[in-house]
Amino acid sequence: MEDSPNIARLGDLLRSPRPLTATASPHFPSTASPPPPPPPPTLRATDHHRIITSLNRATIIVGTLNLAASSSPPPPCSCFRFSDSSATVCCDVLRFQPSCIGKEIRVTAWNFIPFKHHRRGGSGGFLEIIQWSFSDSSEGLKGLHHVDSLPLVPNHRNDDSSKAQYHVFGVVESVGPVSVVPCSMAVSISALNSSSKVNLPGFLVQLMCCECRLCCSKECNTDFISGTLAENQNGNGHSFTKMQIVYFCGNAYTWHATMTKLICTQIMVSSLKKKLIYITKDESRVMYVTADMSVFHVCRFSEKWMPCLKSDNIMGKGECGAYTGVIKDVYMQGMALELDHDVWLLLTDELHSSVHGLRVGTIISVRNVHFMDPKFSWTKIIILGACIKTSIIVESFSPLETGCNVVLQPRSMLGKFIQSLPFSARLWVLLLVSSLRKKFAGFLSDKEILGTQHKEGIVQMYASSLLPPSMIQTEVCMVLSWGFVGMT
Ligand SMILES: [Zn+2]
Ligand SMILES: [Zn+2]
Repeated sequence: MEDSPNIARLGDLLRSPRPLTATASPHFPSTASPPPPPPPPTLRATDHHRIITSLNRATIIVGTLNLAASSSPPPPCSCFRFSDSSATVCCDVLRFQPSCIGKEIRVTAWNFIPFKHHRRGGSGGFLEIIQWSFSDSSEGLKGLHHVDSLPLVPNHRNDDSSKAQYHVFGVVESVGPVSVVPCSMAVSISALNSSSKVNLPGFLVQLMCCECRLCCSKECNTDFISGTLAENQNGNGHSFTKMQIVYFCGNAYTWHATMTKLICTQIMVSSLKKKLIYITKDESRVMYVTADMSVFHVCRFSEKWMPCLKSDNIMGKGECGAYTGVIKDVYMQGMALELDHDVWLLLTDELHSSVHGLRVGTIISVRNVHFMDPKFSWTKIIILGACIKTSIIVESFSPLETGCNVVLQPRSMLGKFIQSLPFSARLWVLLLVSSLRKKFAGFLSDKEILGTQHKEGIVQMYASSLLPPSMIQTEVCMVLSWGFVGMT
């Protein structure tokens, strides 16, 4: 007879100087789940990395999983948060279900990675939830066809839903980064400039929607929602061909981590507003905008809709696709990740500063990333270039004792310069950084080599003297990027 597992408190884990791991059963009894398969060779402990220290007795953590903190300005990361009575930390969770948001869960297998530098006012560690169950066992008994309906802004009084009468049903294709943009609301275009602006956090979700009579019906009651979401899992004839954009704005930005997890999943969002959005003075498009009374619906069992993961016919000319691989090494504070099979993932600023779980040994899948063959004469590699439509999903946490990616410093001139280059040139500059650092080690400071927020370092001076000016261009996908939003 085994003892009941120990319950660890986050407050105590935060005091640990080293990463820790534990499960509800320390030695996987043969009657329960089989022992996990041995890690692939690339994940085994090496001279550089040891396996995370395992607690020698069965230990679980009990607490509540929540959306990102809603604060102004928004926190630097949009991670899920996990709280018990002693502390709150950033977390990521495998086998995520939107129904666990706001509920107490028992974390029965986990890694805890303390941050090396405590962020100001933030949590000092990252909880990787490998296995979990609901504390309330009745939640787990709800059938696979159960549809969870969750208000985007909890506890909102449903006072005026007259303008928020639209709903969108479709497959999530891409999720843009959270950005804070000056936003003005006006009754007409001419009033856009004069109306006062507020800084609004938000992100854009691109969905592939169905245009059949049923999906376009105005009616959106409970029967319709559960019928559409649950029935369609059996492949009942909808065809998701029409692209729609939903702008999750204001407090709804806290849903970013959830929406990222739901890429390729069928969802519905009801009580949306439809607005003409001005991205610049001359460029506008109609999109759905979340309101405080909007509700998000998803079926417990949601088969992944794979067409948006199509990666065949990739020639390496910038096509968008998906890739899954193990992180072998992390360079330039996480801006470049070396994956297995000579694949290099180059991240954007938003991505590399907001995903903590990108540790050496982690298996990630990257969605909507550009495949590039830089045709270097000296080596054969593939570059995966992230843009603002790219999302990274952690498929398996690293068993190795490797640190989290927490970016503290504001964007440097070098960072901005690198982002302005085509992907093959970005990798070249990153390699240049590492060789100049080696060459001048002991002679020049990092500041002189890399530059600061306001001053160019020698890397940037040297690189811009060698790169043709035509190389210095802008992002590949501008569609979802903007500096200004006007709503009429
Ligand atoms: Zn975080
Ligand atoms: Zn349909």
